[in-house]
Amino acid sequence: MNRDLLRKLPAVDYLLRDTRVSDYLRDNPRRLVADAVRIVLEEEREYIKKSGLKDYQFNMEAFMERVRAQMEKIGRPSLVRVVNATGVILHTNLGRAPLAEAALKSLADASLHYTNLEFDIEKGERGERYTHVEEDLCRLTGAESAVVVNNNAAAVLLVLNTIAEGKEVVVSRGELVEIGGSFRIPDVMRKSGARLVEVGTTNRTHIRDYESAVTQETALILKVHKSNFDLIGFTAEVSFQDLAELGGRSGIPLMNDLGSGSLIDLSRFGMKKEPTVQDAVKSGVDVVTFSGDKLLGGPQAGIIVGKKKIIDAVKKNPLTRALRVDKLTVAALEATLRIYRDELRAVKEIPILNMLTKPLSELTKKGKKLVKVLRGISRDRFEIIMRDGCSQVGGGALPLQEIPTKLVAVRPKLISVNQLERLMRMNQVPIISRIERDEVVFDIRTLMDGDIEIVVDFFKGASIE
Ligand SMILES: *Cc1c(COP(=O)(O)O)cnc(C)c1O
Repeated sequence: MNRDLLRKLPAVDYLLRDTRVSDYLRDNPRRLVADAVRIVLEEEREYIKKSGLKDYQFNMEAFMERVRAQMEKIGRPSLVRVVNATGVILHTNLGRAPLAEAALKSLADASLHYTNLEFDIEKGERGERYTHVEEDLCRLTGAESAVVVNNNAAAVLLVLNTIAEGKEVVVSRGELVEIGGSFRIPDVMRKSGARLVEVGTTNRTHIRDYESAVTQETALILKVHKSNFDLIGFTAEVSFQDLAELGGRSGIPLMNDLGSGSLIDLSRFGMKKEPTVQDAVKSGVDVVTFSGDKLLGGPQAGIIVGKKKIIDAVKKNPLTRALRVDKLTVAALEATLRIYRDELRAVKEIPILNMLTKPLSELTKKGKKLVKVLRGISRDRFEIIMRDGCSQVGGGALPLQEIPTKLVAVRPKLISVNQLERLMRMNQVPIISRIERDEVVFDIRTLMDGDIEIVVDFFKGASIE
């Protein structure tokens, strides 16, 4: 029965002779167009098989409309700009930190041209790719030496492998975290070839726990930032200073995986006090690892700073070659670090710092304006108000920090909130919002330059009629 119906579907060659298809053939390789036709044909075949139809008539008009949509989909790039209206500043799924404007010129220059990536211009001989960022990293953090790899996960793996392969690493049970994207301290430890020695209990770890775990086999004491969770209540952890003192006494280096690793003390902007990279270095930690695209606000990278002896060993590890950064990362990171030479400039120009520290009064002003414009264009279709809310830092930084913000809340009158959220997501420039109860809300704090216009254009659009 079904088989007879399937015979009513035209052959690919026949469809490719249709005039509408010949238009596509003029601008695209034949194989690409044939693939689009095949995809739609296969969908139609599946539909006939599953639907249990008694009769079936092939509709050329409707079929060609779907081929057109398919061709449009093929023509669109997969990685596109989106509007982050979620209020999560370091949104891992949305690419974490947007770069500062100043990084763009360095990026463009480095990508379109040859560079002195590994060439010492003064000496006219081979150089090291890390030199371009090492000086600024040392100056900003107070460390003796620095090296940069692909991401912080790679940095942690690399340091563990360099210092502790075949040996023991002591870590508090309260810090054996999973960061998401399947980065788990015990797993990374195993892959590095180091043996994990857990000390203390989930909620409390004391210096005596570390002391009694240190043996001839111990190569490293590791302290891990708890990242996306926090311990509250009856807790105890050992300070950098005390651990550094123990390390000094027993000749064992101390490592700190800081995760976000801010270079600026954010408590000055009303946020919870977190140790900065400089704090960790100053308190005697021998090697610190942190991400380039979290609170630093630069490109994806794993930054390792610390004692020269350790960094030199890391640079010599063959794994470093496999995890090395490319010229684009070096370019963007150097430009970002240069902004930090002037802290006031950093807070102004590095997008995530700018968002984090934006005063509520400014958000209120921006929000009021947006609400007014949106009401003007679509009062009959949407109820639009401004609400108080909370933004989040994200990226495993300051998990409990709630940052007061302003939300624009939209309640659609003609469609459901789920439909509206989807329409916004499917916009030419996708607008990623969230649903709270029966409203679609967008957080003013994470809207960047030009985003407001995109939101306004969306609401002007006819697609919501
Ligand atoms: C985020 C994080 C990592 C992983 O860093 P990536 O740059 O995402 O690879 C490792 N450790 C901690 C504590 C983190 O917060």
